[in-house]
Amino acid sequence: MATKILIPTPLRPYTEKKDAVDAEGKTVGELLVDLTTKHTGLKAHLYNDQGHLRSFVNVYVNDEDIRYLQKEQTPVQPGDTVSIIPSVAGGAPAGAEKGYDPFSTAGVAEKGSYPFSRAKTGPDRELPSLTNDEIKRYSRHLIMPEVGMEGQRKLKAAKVLCIGAGGLGSPAAMYLAAAGVGTLGLVDFDVVDFSNLQRQILHGTPDVGRSKLASAKDRLTTLNPEITIATHEVALSSQNALELFDPYDIILDGTDNFPTRYLVNDACVLLRKPNAYGSIFRFEGQASVFATKDGPCYRCLYPEPPPPGLVPSCAEGGVLGVLPGIIGTIQATETIKLIIGVGEPLIGRFLIFDALRMRFRELKLRKDPDCPVCGTHPTVKQLIDYEQFCGIHPAPEPTSVQNIQNNATEISSIELKQRLDRGDPLKIVDVREPNEYQINRIPGSVLIPLGDVPRRYQELDPDEQIVVHCKMGTRSAKAADFLRSVGFKRVLNLRGGVLDWVDKIDPTQPKY
Ligand code: ZN
Repeated sequence: MATKILIPTPLRPYTEKKDAVDAEGKTVGELLVDLTTKHTGLKAHLYNDQGHLRSFVNVYVNDEDIRYLQKEQTPVQPGDTVSIIPSVAGGAPAGAEKGYDPFSTAGVAEKGSYPFSRAKTGPDRELPSLTNDEIKRYSRHLIMPEVGMEGQRKLKAAKVLCIGAGGLGSPAAMYLAAAGVGTLGLVDFDVVDFSNLQRQILHGTPDVGRSKLASAKDRLTTLNPEITIATHEVALSSQNALELFDPYDIILDGTDNFPTRYLVNDACVLLRKPNAYGSIFRFEGQASVFATKDGPCYRCLYPEPPPPGLVPSCAEGGVLGVLPGIIGTIQATETIKLIIGVGEPLIGRFLIFDALRMRFRELKLRKDPDCPVCGTHPTVKQLIDYEQFCGIHPAPEPTSVQNIQNNATEISSIELKQRLDRGDPLKIVDVREPNEYQINRIPGSVLIPLGDVPRRYQELDPDEQIVVHCKMGTRSAKAADFLRSVGFKRVLNLRGGVLDWVDKIDPTQPKY
């Protein structure tokens, strides 16, 4: 009898879109070998060049993380369920303990389970009183014994920093503002774009073109003028993160890329501030609370990021508009619970939400004693260069003469148009998904989605001049590498993808 393996959304292109497949084997290692034999496209995603399981891929047997057991030697029984959980960027202890009271100094001494230290600045343990207007506003909180007057005063005293005023930051900031979190900080430096409105509900149509923070501040002030909104219009970096986080009690991670995720995690661990984590991709979301005193951090879960481009971003892969609403609201809920000190926080638990199946799953998560940042002998003791850590190198200057002369692997939209107009024989291969092809396309292109390239490349003539493209150039660069690896000599990647084509050659087509 076979064992069921649950396949996460980013890897489903390699399993004919199936969300669960059967595999045979007595151990996790044997199962994965069988899986990658049946679905060869998965191999590059699960194993590195040395044949080891990649560190940003975690495998669970019946919701138990096997890295702490015997890893690939872990035995599996028929009927077990094995889950593969890779890290996704867009927007994750000790066992969960009840009754945290982060604002009560007495509680610290008594319980010894204080999940974080309150920021030094601000009213020193003295909880502010509520005005009559505030009592009216928060009355539905005040009549609940779990919140009450004291809980509401803790909320008023609390300082929460939201990283990002986008998909996750929108619902999180709105609910935290409505709930009466006294100081709400926002970090972002982006401008509202039309394509944001499908999910970033802090912003409205008239805000397109405005700074996200100006738009967010207006919206949040309308929602609750009693609180302080602190806007930090900067790109979060290793140079400013510690100083920026310092005045806050809790950090809410609503970022959409790996360098910032690791930066936020490490800064939270170094400053011992809890990180209300959330991330989203297509129909799937993840949430957890990291970096509490005894709990695991994001690096305990994923010590290293995936190589650039292997896991698509939301800009590439898309995201269901309502999904950040659910995950961002979970992050806000966890933040409020930590502030008030009630319930069981999502510490040491990794929550996975599948909107298509409308199913929540919870995986156990342990603090890794060998974690490079929160382990017993940490190697990361200060913030590092996260772009470099995530393997992202500065883009080469596309206009430099040297680049044009030496870089024979890329072509610009303008050059492609010139060649087409000259009647040069060339094949344009679009490696996006069919639904993207319906939005816009380069005339004459053939569609072979990236996941299909390994089994459909024989449809192409290896001697012909081939130009591959995707939306922005990342996926097509992978397709180009693959085609070269199987003997294609004349493959060019369209720099900037179809978006650059629309910008420079055919502005009548829509962009997405
Ligand atoms: Zn850790």
